[in-house]
This record gives sequence, structure tokens and C-alpha cells, in this order.
Amino acid sequence: MTDLTSTYKGMKEKYREIFLKSSDAIKSRVEELRPKGFDGDIFEKYEPESAGANWQKNVLDMFENDISKEIYRKWQEVLELRKNYECKGCATCCNLACSEYSYEEIKKRAENGDNFAKQFVSIFVPYKTREDAEEIYPEYLKLLSENVEGEVYFYHCPKLNECKRCSDYENRPKICRDFPDNPLDILPKSCGFYEWRKQVEPVVMMLHAMVEILEYYKLKVESGKLKVGINA
Ligand code: SF4
Ligand code: SF4
Repeated sequence: MTDLTSTYKGMKEKYREIFLKSSDAIKSRVEELRPKGFDGDIFEKYEPESAGANWQKNVLDMFENDISKEIYRKWQEVLELRKNYECKGCATCCNLACSEYSYEEIKKRAENGDNFAKQFVSIFVPYKTREDAEEIYPEYLKLLSENVEGEVYFYHCPKLNECKRCSDYENRPKICRDFPDNPLDILPKSCGFYEWRKQVEPVVMMLHAMVEILEYYKLKVESGKLKVGINA
């Protein structure tokens, strides 16, 4: 197993652990709001204004006014910490960008107004062969082929000069300036943000898990309400 593969597997395990802990924590918060003597399930369908419906409303309010704000605050802290690190100019992210979308698909998205896609096609072009991309970061491509279902497309930026420097640095688009904006992305050790990623990974995993869990609750509670409306 390569270093990268074991790191990735370790990340998945860590995330699973954090997800379960976060789920228990949110469940406790939901239970704290349970009306006295009421023993229904939070995902049940309830008549409007009933004890169950009020409980659901209070839970959604707590998500909105309390947990979501805490998630936002912590995310701002993560971004603040990013300022302690900087790009070391290793050029890996200029030399290898991956996408689930083909070049044609990204161009289409750009034509339809997708801002990220517009920036992406303004700099990146596809590698002619997978082997060309493999030369840049072989462990990463191996990791993708072992763990990602479906096609992955590889791109590089022709603005990178022979000295591995950006030939249009002042005009580079926002996606270059912001990279890496997701601390859960796999970064090469040569990246100046590698240590930032390591530092914030547990918190970001927890925030990611919380967002997933809140979405799940909201969807289930809202779909229950919808069914009550339809039946009425
Ligand atoms: S525009 Fe410059 S910084 Fe952006 S990917 Fe290309 S070479 Fe890298
Ligand atoms: S991978 Fe990191 S250090 Fe390397 S060029 Fe990109 S942002 Fe800079």
C-alpha cells in the first residue's frame, strides 16, 4: 500500500468515527428539546400544532439558530488559520487538476454561466493521455483508480513555464488564488498548505459530518410534513 493510499484509508476511518460521534451529539441536542412525556419519533408525521410538530419546529430552529451558526464560526476559524500558510510554488496543482467532467462537459457548464467552469476552461487543457498525467503524480492517480468509481479526467495549465512558474501570475484566476479551498482535498507533501490541512482536518471533518447530519434531519422532517399536507 502506498503512503497516499494508507493516508486515504485512515481518513475514511477517521471520518466514520467523527461522523458517529457527531451524530450522537446531535441526537442528544434533539432529545433535549423533546416535550415532556412525549415518546414519538422525530421523523414521524405529525398534525400541525401537535406536540410532535412543535418539537420538530424547535429542532429545526435550533439547527438554524444555534448549530449552523457554530458551524459557520468554526469554518471562519479554519479559513483564518489558512492565512498562516502560503503557496510554495511546487506547481503540482497547475500541472494536475482532476475532474469528474470531461473537457466538453466543463465547456458546456461554462457556456451555461458556471463561474468555476468558466475560470477552469480559461486556463486548463486536458492531458492527451492518462500516462502523461501519471508522470506528474503517480501515487495520486493510483489512489483515484483504486477508490473512485466512474471516469476521472486530467488537466494541466499551459501557462506554467519551463521553470515551473506561472507565466501570467498577476492575472491568474480566483480558482488559482484560492487553491486549496477545501481542507479535505488530498494535497501533495510539497504543497505549502499541507500542514494547514493536517492541522484543521479533525475540525473540518466534524463540520462536514454535522452539515451532512443536519441535512439528513431537515430532509426527513420536511418530507414528513409534506406528507401530512398531502393527506390532509
Ligand atoms: S494560471 Fe498560473 S497559477 Fe493558475 S494554474 Fe495556470 S500556471 Fe498555475
Ligand atoms: S500544490 Fe500548493 S504549493 Fe504547490 S503550487 Fe499548488 S498551492 Fe502552491
